[in-house]
Amino acid sequence: MRSFVYESLPGRVIFGQPVAEALPAEIERLSLRRVLVLSTPEQIETGKEIAALLSGRAAGVYPQARMHTPVEVTEEAIAHAAALDVDGIVSVGGGSTIGLGKAISFRTGLPHVTVPTTYAGSEVTPILGETQSGVKTTKRDIALLPQVVIYDVALTLSLPVPLSVTSGMNAIAHAAEALYAKDRNPILSALAEKGIAAVARAIPQIVAHPTHVEARSDALFGAWLCGTCLGTVGMALHHKLAHVLGGRFDLPHAALHTALLPHTLAYNAAAAPDAMRAITQAIGAEDAPQGLYELARSSGATMALRDLGMPEDGISAAAHMTMNNPYWNPRPLEVDAIIHLLADAWAGKAPPQTV
Ligand code: NAD
Repeated sequence: MRSFVYESLPGRVIFGQPVAEALPAEIERLSLRRVLVLSTPEQIETGKEIAALLSGRAAGVYPQARMHTPVEVTEEAIAHAAALDVDGIVSVGGGSTIGLGKAISFRTGLPHVTVPTTYAGSEVTPILGETQSGVKTTKRDIALLPQVVIYDVALTLSLPVPLSVTSGMNAIAHAAEALYAKDRNPILSALAEKGIAAVARAIPQIVAHPTHVEARSDALFGAWLCGTCLGTVGMALHHKLAHVLGGRFDLPHAALHTALLPHTLAYNAAAAPDAMRAITQAIGAEDAPQGLYELARSSGATMALRDLGMPEDGISAAAHMTMNNPYWNPRPLEVDAIIHLLADAWAGKAPPQTV
């Protein structure tokens, strides 16, 4: 076995209990008397339902969370929280809402309880991407971790099927890159394989039966494991490309990860044979990139970056941006090969066979 360093992140996770029971108990345990509930505009009703669970202890709902955590939204939310004199925050939603919760908690020190409703995994990472004047910056700090994560599968039943598929693929992307991370370790690799298997098994079942509680529960559990991978070990080419393309062309986060992943894995396959073996075992396919492509495509995901709004003339610029300030990657970065990879993903082609 290769030598390794293992560092675990602090966190309290409550899995599978109804939020109606778990949330009031956690607010009591943290001795909070007045919390602000955060949501997106689309999930305002969920925000109100969560606030209603807290009877007198919810000061209100701030329903303005947006993708990429714009700093102006954070500042407005902090002013709102101060006006309401709150002593804690509860975020309910996906990565966008959790990002706002992290940004507020980091700046103010207010405790943050989160109730995730997608599979993006942000709730268990000490990472925050923020945007200001069109520039996205990423922070990594242990203080960004929420104090408590409450996973209640009931809140995920309403996640639309297309977003369930792509959000699940987003989770798989975290675990897949953890399997070949420079600082990988056997503990995280075991979590990664288990996480990929749980999410991959759940996706087709969710497509067939969107309110299938067992499948939703598998997906949520797998997403937690995959998010833990993202938070604990370094990511590589796939996450770098997603960051560059998302920032430059404002593409939808989970869908972008989905269309890219088969191609970034194919790029790295020969340099990461153990990771590919673990993925094939987890998803029950012969070839990891092609197996994931097929899983996403047959579940209705858009597999062409073109169809997500990326312009063709952005391919070369994105490849060059990836070469500047690159993440560590198991295979050295070659600009022509990355242009080729992006051209295939742009057109929605299947990735090349790797075995
Ligand atoms: P999202 O939070 O942007 O949600 C997408 C849409 O789905 C929103 O309108 C939301 O309200 C809605 N939605 C979420 N859950 C729902 C549910 N159960 N039922 C109905 N509607 C629901 O999407 P996301 O993919 O979870 O998050 C993307 C954002 O999170 C990006 O900004 C990304 O950069 C960030 N992110 C950060 C990390 C991290 O570790 N810092 C990790 C992953 C993603």
